[in-house]
Amino acid sequence: MKVVVLPGDGIGPETMAVTVDVLQTVSDKFGLNLVLMHDIAGHDSLKKHGATVTPALLDKVKNADGLMLGPMATYDFKDEAKGEINPSKFFRKSLDLFANIRPSRTYPGIKTITSPFDLVVVRENTEGFYADRNVESGNSEILVTPDVAISLRRITRDCCERIARSAFQLAMQRRRHLTLVHKHNVLKITDGIFLDACHRVAAEFPEVTVDDIIVDAMMAHVVRAPDRFDVIVTTNMFGDILSDLTAELSGSLGLGGSLNAGLHNAMGQAAHGSAPDIAGQDIANPLSLVTSAAMLLGWHAHRSGNQAYLQASRAIETAITTCIAAGESTRDIGGKLGTHATGQALVKRLQQS
Ligand code: NAD
Repeated sequence: MKVVVLPGDGIGPETMAVTVDVLQTVSDKFGLNLVLMHDIAGHDSLKKHGATVTPALLDKVKNADGLMLGPMATYDFKDEAKGEINPSKFFRKSLDLFANIRPSRTYPGIKTITSPFDLVVVRENTEGFYADRNVESGNSEILVTPDVAISLRRITRDCCERIARSAFQLAMQRRRHLTLVHKHNVLKITDGIFLDACHRVAAEFPEVTVDDIIVDAMMAHVVRAPDRFDVIVTTNMFGDILSDLTAELSGSLGLGGSLNAGLHNAMGQAAHGSAPDIAGQDIANPLSLVTSAAMLLGWHAHRSGNQAYLQASRAIETAITTCIAAGESTRDIGGKLGTHATGQALVKRLQQS
């Protein structure tokens, strides 16, 4: 398996270094022959190539089996004409990575404010309220006058159906319950299409029970009783916000794994951003990115039929659980280790398993 590795900005280089060590360890242990192809994106690429991402990098990714993208300082990238392209958007759009899978669960060893839970947010990734991916050319935010602006939210039946199908397929592998999150009471046309598409796809999955919740009420329900949820499917921005909440409820935003998957490509990427407030201090939690790498291996196992990748993916998840239970973790989840030492602990657990 060939994987392009882009460390990213802020805490990215620190957390990606841990992720690379973990990937190398499981490659040796499970005979995966992983080929890690290191390159740059974000600020480093802007300095070196005049753009945060380049067409040559896209070709490289297209010719690989997967991509690990570190967190990007997207807030800094304001003008595409100056090469300041949002790398997340670039890969999601160019590779049509329509399904953003974001699991969150509680772990023994982390105190949380909720009951234990294990859920997955399935977020549509290619349209919705994201102005930089809604239109072929330009941007779907419009400045009408200096004081009047419009943001357009694109919702298409095709995109709703394919994200719904991904969510139902995932629910079939889990506890067979799917929650649709929407704002149909206000966004009657767009979320009407979303709900209708989900209910049509539901007919293909009669074993899955379905309910639906309005997004604002969902914020209360998921805090009050997260254990009632299994798989949750929603549109782009609702899923982005909800999945940060569920990651934090599980103990830390630094735990949130995230896989962006299309029909032919996938990209592992932490749910969080570049966290400039803690960058370079060796305190960032690397587990979000490591979990995302495990998800990428699991995706490749499914695609290639090679079970060694699934074993490696599960071994990483087990090592994470064991390390957390033993307090071998960063301080955001109550541990005392730095980023690098957490990586060393993970590698040791993997070698011993
Ligand atoms: P953020 O997710 O980077 O950080 C939010 C808070 O969570 C901060 O207090 C941070 O210290 C903490 N945090 C995040 N990751 C952590 C980790 N691994 N371990 C411990 N604590 C962690 O959000 P932000 O500060 O709003 O954004 C910073 C930059 O990241 C911005 O440029 C934003 O646009 C970008 N961003 C990028 C992505 C992405 O690349 N996918 C996602 C979200 C935000």
